[in-house]
Amino acid sequence: MTEPAENIDPVWQSFIGGHWVDADRRLGVEDPGTGETIAEVALAGRDDVDRAVRAAADCHRSRALTGPRPEKRLEMMFRIAAEIRQVTDQGAEILCRESGKALDDARHEFEEAARYFEYYGGMADKIEGRSIPLGDGYVDWTVREPLGVSAQIVPWNFPVALASRSLAAALATGNTVVIKTPELTPLAALLLGVACERGGAPEGAVNIITGWGDEAGAALVQHPLVNQIVFTGSVPTGRSILHAAADRIVPCVMELGGKSAGIVHADADLDTVLASIRSGIFFNAGQVCSAMSRLLVHESIHDELVERAVQLAEGLSVGHGLENPDLTPLISSGQRERVERLCRSGIDAGATAVTGGRRIDRAGWFMQPTVFTDVHPDMDIAREEVFGPALSLMKFGSDEEAIEIANGTDYGLVAGVFTRDLDRAMKTSQQLVAGQVFVNEWFAGGVETPFGGTRQSGYGREKGLEALDNYLQTKNVAIRLGG
Ligand code: NAD
Repeated sequence: MTEPAENIDPVWQSFIGGHWVDADRRLGVEDPGTGETIAEVALAGRDDVDRAVRAAADCHRSRALTGPRPEKRLEMMFRIAAEIRQVTDQGAEILCRESGKALDDARHEFEEAARYFEYYGGMADKIEGRSIPLGDGYVDWTVREPLGVSAQIVPWNFPVALASRSLAAALATGNTVVIKTPELTPLAALLLGVACERGGAPEGAVNIITGWGDEAGAALVQHPLVNQIVFTGSVPTGRSILHAAADRIVPCVMELGGKSAGIVHADADLDTVLASIRSGIFFNAGQVCSAMSRLLVHESIHDELVERAVQLAEGLSVGHGLENPDLTPLISSGQRERVERLCRSGIDAGATAVTGGRRIDRAGWFMQPTVFTDVHPDMDIAREEVFGPALSLMKFGSDEEAIEIANGTDYGLVAGVFTRDLDRAMKTSQQLVAGQVFVNEWFAGGVETPFGGTRQSGYGREKGLEALDNYLQTKNVAIRLGG
């Protein structure tokens, strides 16, 4: 049994212009592992959003981030990273309670957040232009400048890590930021505001709004003083934000969903594949944009792998996130209904749930770890993002067939290949349509490796040095001498 949420503040507020701001209306935040309300959060309205964007715009105009020597920004980023580590004990428990995720994974999310500040902080004094020779009588150079106010909309599955990856890159490049936290997991990300405040971010440089997506989120992306939008979330929301951005020609980064496939060749090390199944589809109960939701297995090893995947799924411990189990609950009853519906649609269409496929009868929004076989690429479970602990296994005969199935969805976020043959791994990674390819380990990579998608998985890259390009624009200065 879990303890009541006594050590979590009962009411949480938005962080606007350096102040914590309440609202007339509040929203209850639920523990998905019990279904109980653990705290309330202020629901920011249009006026709050307006105040936050103006605070960010004023801070940008003041040059508080861009005026001093860049090493000052680097030092600030490192102080914020240290402050994030200071709030990790408190934050990890809150994140575990509001998201349902395992406590150790919540701790890891705060560590990843701190790493983003160190990684991008280290770049703050290395953003340089170039000189362009134009012949006698001219001097020409480029300056890489921040865009201004960056509006960042975050989903509920990794609210702290995803908010940090955009926030850190934006601040390191001298932008000011307004973040809209997700309504289902709004609390832990607010501790980033605490860390930024304690780490000496100038007033207005970082603002964190809590509120509904179609209210506070929509008001933010439509605001006339916003200069850039970073959206991480679902395809339909991304599409509506792009329409709003098009009206004002605002540049966007779109980090959307996925339906990613791993290809298991006959020579693959099955222990390695099993480890990747465990993390690829059962970590965070499968609520991961880059989850390995499809596994294409060579026909010669298909049955053996199915047997081992079922054994793995049935051996997973299930429990509240605070107990650090293998399988945690889904985020909400609505999300569980969606996963159940997709599982039923798979069975109705002829797939076999070798194990799982149903809810778990206990308090909280738990779903059985599920392994499907006899999945056809046209079925909804093979095409739609399930966002739950459900793996679809499909057989293939030839390498060409595997590539065709892997690339045959509307998405292109990540993909993977399991083989001991380096040539085959290289060839497959060339042929896969995805923003990143994992070879022999799902989720290989880190804050240093660029991440993002193609097709309906979006565009632009977060993480890695590539992300800095999202937050900078080039100004060219051309001088005619002697004039
Ligand atoms: P969602 O699109 O429902 O919500 C995401 C955010 O958008 C929330 O903060 C929400 O409040 C806000 N929002 C909703 N309507 C809005 C509007 N009209 N204007 C502005 N903001 C609005 O997504 P979700 O259910 O929270 O997250 C799950 C989705 O996120 C999945 O599709 C998953 O694949 C995707 N995701 C992608 C990545 C990535 O890096 N590519 C990472 C994590 C999650």
